[in-house]
Amino acid sequence: MLEQTANGVCLAIEGLTKRFGGFYALNDVNVEVASGHIHALIGPNGAGKTTFFNLITGVLSADAGRILFEGRLVDDARPSNRTVKGIARTFQNIRLFPHLTVLETVMIGEHCRSYPSVWKALGKAVLQRPFGEAQEERTMRANALELLEFLGLAGQRDAKASDLAYGDQRKLEMARALATKPRLLLLDEPAAGMNPHETQELDEVITRIRDRGVTIVLVEHDMRLVMDISDRVTVLNFGTKIADGNPKEIQNNPTVIEAYLGEDVQL
Ligand code: ADP
Ligand code: MG
Repeated sequence: MLEQTANGVCLAIEGLTKRFGGFYALNDVNVEVASGHIHALIGPNGAGKTTFFNLITGVLSADAGRILFEGRLVDDARPSNRTVKGIARTFQNIRLFPHLTVLETVMIGEHCRSYPSVWKALGKAVLQRPFGEAQEERTMRANALELLEFLGLAGQRDAKASDLAYGDQRKLEMARALATKPRLLLLDEPAAGMNPHETQELDEVITRIRDRGVTIVLVEHDMRLVMDISDRVTVLNFGTKIADGNPKEIQNNPTVIEAYLGEDVQL
């Protein structure tokens, strides 16, 4: 089910600014992400894309600006509170607990929805559970398996996370993020390091996640992927928004083309 605000805006970013010392990683950025969209955020290296995600998830705090999720101000200091509210992410560099199995990894994601820190969730999941919680555990396991089926990883449920192929580790991160039942999913360069076949699959996976009713903000350098699946594209350069539009408008925008000059990227 799509959870929409009256005006269909999932995420509204107003005047978002982040400085590191005197350096503006983001400067007065405004972005509106419509509910049910795949909204790409692109820009050359160092443009501020990961910083944008770190501010939305509460890993960093903004120097100025407002973040509204489904019309409500997001200002909790703790990233885990934002997870509970329905915001999930994957990381530019894969972050998995290498010794957990694939199934355990996804179940940890589910526990994060119930427990306010990943460490508490981990403890709760790993420690002997008292009698009476078996049903809850079975439901979590069934949900986790459903997600693994959805992402084509069910056959590897008992493998160690670190033993998966690279592309599958990326998918496992998505499964873990989806296990928190987000309504907004932030994907930071999900195709990085994938081979063309894995990227092709990813195209379909991201679209199917959107079709489950999850709004997606996609940071990605693979422009074929971006232009294929995005409803809307926002372009950052040196911390400033330089363009906003549909994929075709962005590909033909001279300011965007200029920003990418010298980068090994085909718009
Ligand atoms: P992108 O993801 O678009 O490549 P980032 O958001 O990672 O860019 O970084 C934007 C800019 O902010 C870069 O110049 C980067 O070096 C700088 N930056 C990011 N995080 C920090 C930090 N914690 N301390 C200082 N500078 C940072
Ligand atoms: Mg980045």
